[in-house]
Amino acid sequence: MSALLLDGKALAQKTEAELSQRVAALKEKTGRTPILATILVGADPASATYVRMKGNACTRIGMDSLKVELPDTTTTEELLAKITELNDNPDVHGILLQHPVPEQIDERACFDAIALSKDVDGVTCLGFGRMAMGEDAYGCATPKGIMRLLEAYDVPLQGKHAVVVGRSPILGKPMALMLLNANATVTICHSRTENLQDHIRQADIVVGAVGRPEFIKADWIKDGAVVVDAGYHPGGVGDIELAPLHDRASAITPVPGGVGPMTINTLIYQSVDSGEKKLADT
Ligand code: NAP
Repeated sequence: MSALLLDGKALAQKTEAELSQRVAALKEKTGRTPILATILVGADPASATYVRMKGNACTRIGMDSLKVELPDTTTTEELLAKITELNDNPDVHGILLQHPVPEQIDERACFDAIALSKDVDGVTCLGFGRMAMGEDAYGCATPKGIMRLLEAYDVPLQGKHAVVVGRSPILGKPMALMLLNANATVTICHSRTENLQDHIRQADIVVGAVGRPEFIKADWIKDGAVVVDAGYHPGGVGDIELAPLHDRASAITPVPGGVGPMTINTLIYQSVDSGEKKLADT
């Protein structure tokens, strides 16, 4: 068996072409484009790169971004004030607060200050709760990107046993709820899970969201499983030992080019949606 490649890079490119057309149509109709505000606190080089990549993605589809850069001495109160200002700005349709923020800041309080309608990165507790309940909310960008990838390739989820390894607020936890809402039977594993390998061996769908290079071994995964790897580490490997699975899995997300491109793509996809909703009445 040769595994179907779940090509996130190709899907992201195709989606960008569609989003460009939607942004152009909106501009023609209203004279305005959706605007994503990005907030970078401090000078962490990796965070700065991620924010730049997000701004570049906006530019590629013809929408604007508003870059907010704050010093690493910023307090929780100052960041909350900036978020409130962006919430109140009718020209801003989405807000991205780049994680992580400096440690003196209460990150959760700041995430939760983002207005639900502008939470296009899906980081608020309110958005998470609504998503979990099947109510309208933007999904957390990486797991939502994974769901969009699985949907694009018609990967069956209903009734399947999905094992998600990792339970972080931005990935494992929302991933598990999204799969549950798609009628998968879901097991969530984490650092205290006993007999991890036995759980993974039962999976029809495995999602690796551990943050350790090739931590999940190929021989823990059964033949014919769908293998989703959210990790990306130096050397171009993910959280799962993927190479031996290309002949055994039914579908696989390559690293790089699988899950990675879907995260920023989902952020701009949801930003365009938010812009369309808010500009529709103008
Ligand atoms: P994280 O916050 O560090 O969470 C890692 C999770 O893995 C935790 O829930 C942890 O369990 C669990 N874990 C750690 N050691 C384990 C073990 N020995 N056995 C079972 N579970 C274990 O990481 P994250 O932010 O969710 O990211 C996970 C991966 O996805 C990373 O490789 C990251 O680079 C990648 N990622 C990619 C994107 C993208 O855009 N493509 C975005 C975000 C993350 P506990 O909860 O018990 O500590």
